[in-house]
Amino acid sequence: DFTLETAKAWMSEYARVLDEKKEYLTELDSPIGDADHGTNMARGMKAAIEPANLDQPDLGSLFKKVGLALVSKVGGTSGPLYGTFFMRAGKEAGETTALDGAALSKALHAGLQGVLDRGKAELEDKTMVDAMTPALAAFDKAIGAADLAAASAAAAEAAKTGAEATTPMLAKKGRASYLGERSIGHQDPGATSTEYLFESLAASLA
Ligand code: ADP
Ligand code: MG
Ligand code: MG
Repeated sequence: DFTLETAKAWMSEYARVLDEKKEYLTELDSPIGDADHGTNMARGMKAAIEPANLDQPDLGSLFKKVGLALVSKVGGTSGPLYGTFFMRAGKEAGETTALDGAALSKALHAGLQGVLDRGKAELEDKTMVDAMTPALAAFDKAIGAADLAAASAAAAEAAKTGAEATTPMLAKKGRASYLGERSIGHQDPGATSTEYLFESLAASLA
């Protein structure tokens, strides 16, 4: 099962990867944004994994704390969106300390729905939604036949493919959309940080 310990490992690994990739993410945010996505996300997850946030009695409270930390520390467009993702996932998880594959899927879908409600992006608008949506579809497809480790590895693979597929897209949301046609040819930074989110999940369940 996905336990409180798994959730802590996931959040710590995500913070580690974001710190490692912050220059790269900011480089992706340069031609089609304001060159802050890597520093924003690394700062936010560093705050999110402080013991005061991670030491919680259940998954619902843990994800709520992570979400609140992201909203207050990341800033920009992505802070409220990732913050909503975790707060909605936490609300769905509730006062439990373990989730099976189906329950984890429900929590992740609640998070994605929060991002959609708040950001109003559609598929192929060149945003984090283009990595999250295929990741959850791959997770759901695998979970019936495979264990959590294999299903989350499939989700990570799909998120990576989804992030790479944003390169030829024309941005319709966020700062990149101000560039119109000039947004074409660059990979979306938010879709890339979502790829890392699912790679970190897979690493925590491996
Ligand atoms: P800002 O653009 O405010 O500087 P960031 O650079 O941290 O914020 O995040 C930019 C990322 O946010 C984009 O790469 C994109 O993936 C994501 N994003 C922007 N607008 C939306 C939206 N409406 N819905 C979902 N994701 C979005
Ligand atoms: Mg930015
Ligand atoms: Mg900004």
